[in-house]
Amino acid sequence: MSSLVGPDEDVERGKVPVPEHVQDAIRTLLEWAGDDPRREGLVDTPKRVARAWKEYCVGYGEDPSMHLNRVFEEVGGYDEIVLLKDIPFQSHCEHHMAPIIGKAAIAYLPDNHVVGISKLARVLHGFARRLQIQERLTAEVAECIWDNLKPKGVAVVIDASHACMTARGVRTPGVSMVTSRMMGTFLEDHKSRKEVLSLMGY
Ligand SMILES: [Zn+2]
Repeated sequence: MSSLVGPDEDVERGKVPVPEHVQDAIRTLLEWAGDDPRREGLVDTPKRVARAWKEYCVGYGEDPSMHLNRVFEEVGGYDEIVLLKDIPFQSHCEHHMAPIIGKAAIAYLPDNHVVGISKLARVLHGFARRLQIQERLTAEVAECIWDNLKPKGVAVVIDASHACMTARGVRTPGVSMVTSRMMGTFLEDHKSRKEVLSLMGY
C-alpha cells in the first residue's frame, strides 16, 4: 500500500505518462463539443487535460488520515477550541466533473493532544482532490478528524460555489452553498456550537 501514503509527486510535477486510449477519450469529447481535435491548438490538449485530471484527483492515491498521525501532547493545559478558517480549496463535482471552489473552516476541541495546524488543511485537500459532492466532503473531513485525533468535538463548515451551477444549468454566478458537520460537544451542546460558529464568522 505504499501508493496510499501521500500526494503523488510525479502527478504534482505533471510528468505522468498518458496512455493513448485516455488521449483518445479526450479527443472524442473535443469532437462531441464541436471542435476538431486535429487542429494545431488542440494537438497536445488531450495530454494536458489527462494530466490535469490526474492532478485534480490526486487525493485518490492518498490516505488523508496519515496527516493526523503525529500529535503533540504538550498543550500547556490548553483545552479550548482550535480553529483554522478561510482555508481555500478546490474540488470537482462528481455529477458534472465541474470545479467546486470555496473555503472551509475546521475546528476541534482537543482532548489532551493537538496536531500541527496545517494538517487540518491537508486532510481537507486529501478529500477535496477527488470527485466529490460538498455534503460528503464536509462529512469526510469531520469524521477523519473525529476518528483519528479523538477530540471532544469537531466542527467543519464549507462554503463553496459550484461551476456546474454558475457556468451552466441555471447560470447563477455568486451563489454559494454552505454545509456543516458537527460532532461531539459541538453537536450536543448548543452553547459550544454557537461559540464555534461565531468564531468561524457565521
Ligand atoms: Zn455538479
